[in-house]
Amino acid sequence: LNNLIFPKEILDQTLIGTAKIVFIITIPVAYFIGAKVRQNTLLSDELKRLVNRNRLTDVATRDFFFSKLNDKTETYGVSLMVDIDHFKVVNDTYGHLAGDIVIRHVAQILQVNCRPLDIVCRFGGEEFVIFLHYASLEDGHRIAERIRAQVQAEPAFAAGVEISVTVSIGGSLKDAAAHIEGSVKRADEALYRAKALGRNQIVVPAAA
Ligand code: GH3
Ligand code: MG
Ligand code: MG
Repeated sequence: LNNLIFPKEILDQTLIGTAKIVFIITIPVAYFIGAKVRQNTLLSDELKRLVNRNRLTDVATRDFFFSKLNDKTETYGVSLMVDIDHFKVVNDTYGHLAGDIVIRHVAQILQVNCRPLDIVCRFGGEEFVIFLHYASLEDGHRIAERIRAQVQAEPAFAAGVEISVTVSIGGSLKDAAAHIEGSVKRADEALYRAKALGRNQIVVPAAA
């Protein structure tokens, strides 16, 4: 009787037809949703990058640096304050755009001399702060000297010419439980001494 009302051939065709329609609808919808989710993930990564990284140099912003280190006060390591020497002369001689390229060039050298767990941050115009996680003062001294030497050895290329700059670096230890602000302030004082010593110098005091 069933076969009379719904002959098998027609029933089979109907089921195949329904399956086809289901596929025709769900595949593009699933694809569309997937594409949207992917797009949102990319957008949110891009937003995070825009907020946390400095646009010119692609290193961390000052806010990101402090929020990261204030989140884990128990961490220890070495803060290095790095400042380009006589940078005003670069701007005055080659122009502001060339100055920007020099800043980016120095930022890249800082980045390649650090490990992914360290934080390189643009602190101000031509000033950077690096936090070397779990480093000793000896490590900090060694890395600061490596950076100083590499900046001196590798000129930037801007405005059609090679532009050589040097950096001065001050360092200080951050003990576990100490605040990062205190360590950055001491690194800044050490940087001031490096400038006073004639620039292109590092001052990373040995442990007291
Ligand atoms: P010192 O050796 O004592 O550090 O001398 P300096 O000339 O590097 O220091 P100073 O603080 O007098 O000058 C820093 C200059 O950096 C002044 C400012 O115009 C320039 N500057 C700050 N931010 C930027 C930037 O984003 N791009 C460019 N091109 N220049 C900048
Ligand atoms: Mg300077
Ligand atoms: Mg400065």
